[in-house]
Amino acid sequence: MLIVKKFGGSSVANAEKVLNVAKRIGKSYDEGNDVVVVLSAQGDTTDELIAKAQEINSKPSRREMDMLLSTGEQQSVALMAIALEKLGYPSISLNAYQVGMNTTSTYSKARLKNIQTDRVQAELERKNIVIITGFQGINRFDDITTLGRGGSDTTAVALAAVLKADRCEIYTDVEGIYTADPRIVKDAKKLSEITYDEMLELASLGARVLHNRSVELAKKYHVELVVRSSLNYEEGTVVREVCNMEKMLISGVAADKDVARISVIGVHDEPGKAFNLFGLLAKHKINIDIILQSVGRDGTKDITFTVAKDMLEETLDLLEENRERLTVKDIVHDENVAKVSVVGAGMVSNPGVAAKMFEALYDAHINIQMISTSEIKISVLIDEDKAENAINAIHDKFQLGNIKLKR
Ligand code: ASP
Ligand code: MG
Repeated sequence: MLIVKKFGGSSVANAEKVLNVAKRIGKSYDEGNDVVVVLSAQGDTTDELIAKAQEINSKPSRREMDMLLSTGEQQSVALMAIALEKLGYPSISLNAYQVGMNTTSTYSKARLKNIQTDRVQAELERKNIVIITGFQGINRFDDITTLGRGGSDTTAVALAAVLKADRCEIYTDVEGIYTADPRIVKDAKKLSEITYDEMLELASLGARVLHNRSVELAKKYHVELVVRSSLNYEEGTVVREVCNMEKMLISGVAADKDVARISVIGVHDEPGKAFNLFGLLAKHKINIDIILQSVGRDGTKDITFTVAKDMLEETLDLLEENRERLTVKDIVHDENVAKVSVVGAGMVSNPGVAAKMFEALYDAHINIQMISTSEIKISVLIDEDKAENAINAIHDKFQLGNIKLKR
């Protein structure tokens, strides 16, 4: 079997952990597998490098930041090869340039375009364990780029896709994907399986286990992903297209606190107003999430929408500048909101999920400000300080702590 194994920063944070992971890699190699390893920077290295740059210049260029941050992963792969050497395993570390991992040119959020396989394959044929830097790539100027925070997952999935690996294992400090964040919900349960679509919804909802793009790629190239702990041999969660287990009505509840709500009040109730507003925001690359428009009354209407918190100020400035053209009477906002969502592939064919979720919130005396739905997700916007409460209430209502997970 050809296996791609990715270890996150916490799994290789110090010498002891590097050696433990090396043993684990060696074990898989001894079982007769071809092993490709993708690593993140050790522990908080990436944050520390960012802080170092900030001490010198608060607005460093993205190119130089990528040059700097990529060193974290390069340290990890060399240290892992050194550890495997000590344990007597043949291995070689490679960075993105040596492999030929080509990306788009946008520094700090590049996207992988193609990955050369000849070097990696040659090393596998020499029976080497191949250890590759996550997170980084090379653009058409031969410069180093990075894939955005958490991007090593994406490197691993992309490598698994081009190498046609039999599986891609993502090792982290949690045992898998849970029905809710176990730090918030005490009886949250580990899922044995989850579909790509559910995982995509959860990843973007702030269940920060996997880099969103890695799940997109896994879905596109049918890479079966396993998320599991680097600290034990528990089975973890499999992310795949169709789950064998009984389609679960709900597979998870998640909260996203990185949202702010903006309302434009008293907009003329005539065609083109929503287009004017959202066209303007789109032109400035401001991403909108939930949108709510009221029914017109006395010739005016209100439009409410949410944006990521770090876009709030820019959005408000833009609206203020365009107040007249947008025929806005008043602009109000609230940053103390959270988006709470339930996700489940089974809800497509089962009515009543929304009602049950709203009942849970009603029982917990939580007011819903906005609602949005998709085929497999229902989201509500509520007060930020009620988010934990809401997750617990919903988790209880759907009895997610008691679900039977069957393989
Ligand atoms: N080291 C990078 C980060 O901290 C990439 C990763 O860990 O996946 O974001
Ligand atoms: Mg990560």
